[in-house]
Amino acid sequence: MAVVVMKFGGTSVANIERIRNAAKHVKREVEAGNSVAVVVSAMAGTTNQLVEWVREASPMHDAREYDAVVATGEQVTAGLLAIVLQGLGISARSWQGWQIPITTSQAHGSARIEAIDGSEILQRFEHGEVAVVTGFQGREPERNRIATLGRGGSDTSAVAVAIALKADLCDIYTDVEGIYTTDPRVVSKARRLNKIAYEEMLEMASLGSKVLQTRSVELAMVHGMRTRVLSSFADPESQQPVRAGMNDYDVGTIVCDEDEILEAQVVSGIAYAKDEAKVTILGVADKPGVAASVFGPLADAAIDVDMIVQNLSSDGMRTDMTFTVQATQLDKALAVINQARGTIDFEEIKSSADVVKVSVIGIGMRSHAGVAAKMFKALSEKNINILAITTSEIKISVLIDSAYAELAVRTLHSVYGLDDD
Ligand code: ADP
Ligand code: ASP
Ligand code: MG
Repeated sequence: MAVVVMKFGGTSVANIERIRNAAKHVKREVEAGNSVAVVVSAMAGTTNQLVEWVREASPMHDAREYDAVVATGEQVTAGLLAIVLQGLGISARSWQGWQIPITTSQAHGSARIEAIDGSEILQRFEHGEVAVVTGFQGREPERNRIATLGRGGSDTSAVAVAIALKADLCDIYTDVEGIYTTDPRVVSKARRLNKIAYEEMLEMASLGSKVLQTRSVELAMVHGMRTRVLSSFADPESQQPVRAGMNDYDVGTIVCDEDEILEAQVVSGIAYAKDEAKVTILGVADKPGVAASVFGPLADAAIDVDMIVQNLSSDGMRTDMTFTVQATQLDKALAVINQARGTIDFEEIKSSADVVKVSVIGIGMRSHAGVAAKMFKALSEKNINILAITTSEIKISVLIDSAYAELAVRTLHSVYGLDDD
């Protein structure tokens, strides 16, 4: 017997028929004798609609009330799934974040889970009851308000619940068959991976592969929670149930420790992020302290700077500096720089949100040279200009014009031998 957490994303619970299908996956696990907690997202499109209504009501809305509104989507699906499960003769009960409770920080709209009391759910497991838990939300104890975890946060709820219940496996059911070498909706030759290391998935997610929320991978990595991504659309009956101690499954992708991955590829995946924007400050004085005068005020305004390029000045007097920020923070960043104009001393500022960050990721890079050179050559052969570069031990990212995003991803996917043929 195993303890299993099963998370169903928005498209997997988009209507009653899909909810019935999700329930069949749950039934299979229950009939195999497993204890099951299900974590659900809002029905596809619901959270977007709720966010839109809040913005329409007031662009400058109260963050606590935003959470009160957007957390409701998950409540609907949790209740509906419990009803459908009961109809199948399975004992099931829905749980909202505050009822468990799932305790969070005070950062409304992007709260972090701080604790989960799994005792009541565990107690009810003894009687074979399935817990259907709302993803994406919890309770912030200081002011006793509902808080949400940021978009895509149900993945994080699922991993956190799995950790609290000491689950054998955290299964994330979605609309693709697992984690692919790159987004399968963009590159038709993308290949499903059987396993991917926590560290690689963490880079993939934070560099734009939204198949798992970054925070969920971080949590899974810290707690060693094996997490599998698989399709909810596959036939529920033909699939094998989860078994305690079983490490390999024939469907989905398991995010696990890198020791389990026998043949690590040099490059395992390619990610891209379209939500970056580029700022170039032209003619900044080339003297000590100038970087501090630019990035100090940005940090004070809580603007995260990602890539930075500073050119050498030809005359030793003035130079250009380029950096990237989240596109949503571009206007704020420009305002901060313009305000600090007196201390920074520059001639002109330019910006563009028509950029994309493309990254190649792989733990095998640690022991292989030449990965970056191959990337730069492949892009130059396609006449794609690189605007900025950053690297770490297991990834290389380049910033390019967004018009070339798909071409770059497809080219790199093929150059690193990832194409499925
Ligand atoms: P859910 O609603 O189930 O949470 P998401 O839309 O958040 O689903 O995540 C699944 C989507 O992630 C897929 O439809 C796919 O387009 C996208 N995706 C991006 N990169 C990858 C990748 N490397 N592997 C698989 N899916 C990816
Ligand atoms: N419903 C929330 C969202 O759309 C959380 C999730 O689906 O993970 O962001
Ligand atoms: Mg998601």
